[in-house]
Amino acid sequence: MGRAFAYVILGGGVAAGYAALELVRHGDGVSPGELCIISDEAVAPYERPALSKGYLLPRGAARLPAFHTCVGANDELLTEQWYKDHGIELVLGTRVVSADVRRKTLLTATGETISYKTLIVATGARALELEEFGVTRSDATNVCYLRSLEDADKMVGVMRSCHGGNAVVIGGGYIGMECAAALVANEIKVAMVFPRKHCMDRLFTPKIAEFYENYYAAKGVTFIKEARVTSFETSSDGKVTGAILRDGRRLPADMVVVGIGARANTELFDGQLAMEKGGIKVNGRMQTSDAAVYAVGDVAAFPVALLSGDMRRFEHVDCARRTARRAVAAIMERSDGAEERGEMGFDYLPFFYSRVFALSWQFYGDNVGEPVHFGDFSAPAGGRPKFGACWVSGGLVAGVFLEGGSREENEAVASAVRCRARIGDVAAELESRGLAFADQE
Ligand code: FAD
Ligand code: NDP
Repeated sequence: MGRAFAYVILGGGVAAGYAALELVRHGDGVSPGELCIISDEAVAPYERPALSKGYLLPRGAARLPAFHTCVGANDELLTEQWYKDHGIELVLGTRVVSADVRRKTLLTATGETISYKTLIVATGARALELEEFGVTRSDATNVCYLRSLEDADKMVGVMRSCHGGNAVVIGGGYIGMECAAALVANEIKVAMVFPRKHCMDRLFTPKIAEFYENYYAAKGVTFIKEARVTSFETSSDGKVTGAILRDGRRLPADMVVVGIGARANTELFDGQLAMEKGGIKVNGRMQTSDAAVYAVGDVAAFPVALLSGDMRRFEHVDCARRTARRAVAAIMERSDGAEERGEMGFDYLPFFYSRVFALSWQFYGDNVGEPVHFGDFSAPAGGRPKFGACWVSGGLVAGVFLEGGSREENEAVASAVRCRARIGDVAAELESRGLAFADQE
C-alpha cells in the first residue's frame, strides 16, 4: 500500500509546525492534499520548550491545545483542526522505519510506503540515555527523561507522588537547570549531580554559573559537582530508591530526572545523505546533499553566514523556527543565484534562552574570545538582578549573555552582536556604561 505527496515533512515537532505554516502561507503555497506530516508523537506539532516550564507548574499548568505551534512566535495556533482545514494529511503515532532517497520513499512501521517529490527532514533529537554510560535501570517507573509530551506526563505523575520527597537530577545542562526549578516549585528537594566544575559549563562562565548556583542553593537545591552517578539502588517493586556516585556516596531518591544531552535523529539517512556535526549537512538553503531533501531544526548542520560560514548545529527552538522558514522559502523560490544556492551560509544569529524561577536570560551569538562581565551579580532582595557577559574576539563583540534584560535591552544586545560592534576598551566601556555599549554603531 502507498500514498504519494508533493511535500512530506518527516517529524512532527517545532520545525514541522513552522514549516507547515510557511508552506500554507506562501504565495504559491501548497494545495489541499499536497502536504503530509508524519510523526511518531500522538499529537499535532507543539512548542517543546513548554514541557520543562509551564507544563510542570504545580498550579495553572500549560496544557494542549494552548501551546501547539506556532504560538511561540505569536503566530497562529496550529491545532489538528487547522491541518484538516488546510487539507494537510497529519499522520500521527506513526514511526518511519526506513527511507530511500533515491526512490523518494519512506516506509512506516505500519507497512505503508509514502513517496514525496520534496522531503523536509525534521526528526529533531532524542535524549541520551544513562545506559550509554553504563548505568542500568533508567527504565524504572520513577526515572524521568524529558523530550516528549509523553515524558512530561510521566514526570508530572511522578512529581505528584513525591511531594515533600527527594529528587536526584542528573546533568547540569538545560534540562537539569529547568527541571530542578520545576521540582522546587513542586516542593520536592533537589540534589543535582554533574561531571563539570559548574552548571551549564558549555555556555556559562564560572562567574555566571556561581550566580545561578547560589540562587538555586537559596531555594534549597544541593549541587554535587565533578561527580557521576554510576548505579541505582532499587526496591523490590522496581523503583529507584537511591543514586550511587562514583566515590561511593549514596543520594536518597524518590525520583530521578535525567538530562545528560541529546543526539540528533539522523539514522534513517546514514549512508544516503552527507553528515556533519552529528547532524545532516545542509547548505544555507537547508538543502541536503540530495537536492529533493531539506533538513531543518535540531537535526540540521548548516553554514552560519555571521560566523564566517562555520558549520553549526543548534538544539534550540529559535533555530528550528527559522531554519523551517528558510527551507520553505528556498523550496518555493528555486532560484539559481549564489545566495539562493546556499553558498553564502544562512543569515542566522544564534539565540538561546531560558526561564527559571523569576529569572530569565538570553544569549546571542557565539561564546568565543574573552568574556567581560557587566552589571550587578548580587541578587537584590525583592528586585530583579541584571547582569551579563560580553564575549570579545579580535576587538569585536562575538556574543552577549544577559540576565534580566527588558525586551528593548535584549533587542539592543542582539543588534550589537549582529553588527559585530567594535568596542575599544570593552571592560571600561561596560563597567562605566552598563549596557550602553549595545547602542553603539
Ligand atoms: P523536535 O521538536 O524534537 O521534533 C522532532 C519530531 O520528529 C518529534 O515529533 C519526533 O517524535 C519526530 N520523529 C523523530 N524521528 C521520527 C521517525 N523516525 N518517524 C516519525 N517521527 C519521528 N530550546 C530553546 O531555545 N529554549 C527553550 O526553552 C527550550 N526548552 C526545551 C525544553 C525541553 C523539555 C526540550 C526537550 C527542548 C527544549 N528546547 C528549547 C529545544 C527545542 O525544543 C528544540 O530545539 C526543538 O524542539 C527542535 O525542533 P525540531 O522540530 O528540530 O525537533
Ligand atoms: P545539555 O547538553 O544541555 O546538558 C547535558 C548535561 O549533562 C551537561 O552538563 C553534561 O556535561 C552532562 N552530562 C553528560 N553526560 C553525563 C553523565 N553521564 N552523567 C551526568 N551528567 C552528564 O543537554 P540536556 O539534556 O540538558 O538537554 C537536552 C536537549 O534539550 C538539548 O538539546 C537542549 O538544548 C534542549 N533544551 C534546551 C532548553 C533551552 O534552550 N532553554 C531547555 C531544555 C532542553 P558535559 O558538559 O560535560 O557534557
